[in-house]
Amino acid sequence: VWNNCLNFIKDNIQEQAFKTWFEPIQAIELTENALYIQVPSQFFYEWLEEHYVKILKVALTKELGAGAKLLYKIQMENAIGNKQPYTDQLPSTQRAPVRTQELDVPVQNKNPELKNPFIIPGIRNVKIESQLNSNYSFDNFLEGDSNRLARSAGLAVSNKPGGTSFNPLLIFGGVGLGKTHLAHAIGVEIKDLYPEKTVLYISAEVFTQQYVDSVRKQTRNDFIYFYQLIDVLIVDDIQFLSGKSGTQDVFFHIFNHLHQNGKQVILTSDKAPVDMQDIEQRLLSRFKWGLSAEIQNPDVDTRIEILKGILYRDGVSMPEEIIEYVAQNVKTNVRELEGAIISLIAQSSFNKREITLELAKQVVDKFVKNVKKEITIDYIQKVVSDYFQMDTETLCSKTRKRHIVQARQLAMFFAKKYTKASLANIGSEIGNRDHATVLHACKTIDNLIETDKQFRKYHDDINKKFSI
Ligand code: ADP
Ligand code: MG
Repeated sequence: VWNNCLNFIKDNIQEQAFKTWFEPIQAIELTENALYIQVPSQFFYEWLEEHYVKILKVALTKELGAGAKLLYKIQMENAIGNKQPYTDQLPSTQRAPVRTQELDVPVQNKNPELKNPFIIPGIRNVKIESQLNSNYSFDNFLEGDSNRLARSAGLAVSNKPGGTSFNPLLIFGGVGLGKTHLAHAIGVEIKDLYPEKTVLYISAEVFTQQYVDSVRKQTRNDFIYFYQLIDVLIVDDIQFLSGKSGTQDVFFHIFNHLHQNGKQVILTSDKAPVDMQDIEQRLLSRFKWGLSAEIQNPDVDTRIEILKGILYRDGVSMPEEIIEYVAQNVKTNVRELEGAIISLIAQSSFNKREITLELAKQVVDKFVKNVKKEITIDYIQKVVSDYFQMDTETLCSKTRKRHIVQARQLAMFFAKKYTKASLANIGSEIGNRDHATVLHACKTIDNLIETDKQFRKYHDDINKKFSI
C-alpha cells in the first residue's frame, strides 16, 4: 500500500522533495483503514503536515478508500542525536508518540465556485458543480448530415462514459457550428443517466486561468488532484492551449490519469488535430487515440430544421417561405442563423409588425452585411499581389526570384492568420505547394518581421488591409 502511495506521490512532486521528505519514511503497520508510518523527527512530521498533507490524503484515499487514516510515529531522538527505530519492545514510556491524522475531515467547501474549485480540504464528499448548461440538450440539437457522426458518437459516449473506444471524443469544426452545444448535451445526458458520476465542463481558457493561478498560489498539486477526481471531463476549445506549454503539460498529466482509470474525456476544437499548431506532439497523439468527429456547416435543409426548432422553442410561428428565405441567405454558421431569426422576431414584436417576406429581407440584409466579410485565400492572394504589383499567377508561379518567393510566403502567412484553412489547403491554393512548405513560409515570415525592417513595413501595410 505504502509503495503505491509513494509511486503516486513521486509522480506528483519534485524529485528532490520526494527524496527529502518521502524516502526517509517507513511504513510500519497497516490495519483495515489505517496506515502507520514512521518519520524521523517531530520537525519532519510537522513539515509533512504542513506541506504534503493533501497529497498524502489523496494517495491514501486511493489505496484504502474514503475512511482512510494515516498515523505517524515519530522516531525518538536521544540525547546524542542517535535515532532509534520505533519498536514495540520499547518500554511504553519511551514509545514514540503517535499522531493521528484523520483523513475524513469535514468538507469546508460544500459548493465550490468555478473560480476556485480546487480548494478541497476533504477529498471525500466533495461536490463538484458540473458547470453544465441544461438548455443545451440532445433534444434540441438537430441532426443533419453535417453533424451526424459527432452527434451519434456523443450519444454513444453518453450511454457508456469511458466504456467506448471514443475516448477521448474530439469534436471539431468552425465557429458557431454547435461544438459547445453538443459538448454540454453529452454532459447533461450523462448526468441524467448516471447521477453519481462527477462531470465537469470547462473551457480551455478557464482551465488555463485556473492553472496559472494555481502556480502563482503554489497550489499546483491541488489543481491536479481536483481534476483527478472527475469521471467525465469536458474541455471546450482546446485550441486555446496552443503555445501554452505549462498548461499543456499539466493537462497531459491529468489526461493520462483519467484515461488510465477509464474516465471519459471529451474535447472540442476549432481545428482537426493535424492542423493544430503549437500543441505538443504527445498531446496531439493522445487526442487521436479515440475518435475525432467533425461538425460541418449545415446544408440548407438542416438550416431550415434548426430554424424551426428555434421558432418552436420560442413559441413563434412563421410562414414557411420566410423560414426558407432566412435559411437560404444566412449561410455562415448556426450562430448567425439563430441571430438572424431572433432579430427578425424581435423586430416584428417591437414594431408590432407582421412578419412578412419584406421585413425578413430587410432584417436579413442588414444582418448579412453586418457579418464581417470573410477573408478568403483568394482575397489574400489578390491583396498581396496588388501590393507588390504583380499578378496572382506570378505570385503562385514556380519561380525562385527572391521578391516573388517572399510575396508568396507572405500570402501563405496571412492565409494561416486570417482563414481557417488547413496548411495543406493553403498550400494547394497558393501555387500547389504542400503543407510543409506553408509551415516553412510562416516561420520564415515570422523571422523576417523580426529581423528586417523594410519587410516588416510590407507586412504591416498589408496587414492593415485585412484588419479593418
Ligand atoms: P461552437 O461552439 O461550435 O462555436 P455553439 O455550440 O456555441 O457553436 O453553437 C452556436 C449556436 O448554434 C448555439 O446557440 C447552438 O445552440 C446553436 N446550434 C448549433 N448547432 C445546432 C444544431 N445542430 N441544432 C440546434 N442548434 C444548434
Ligand atoms: Mg464553442
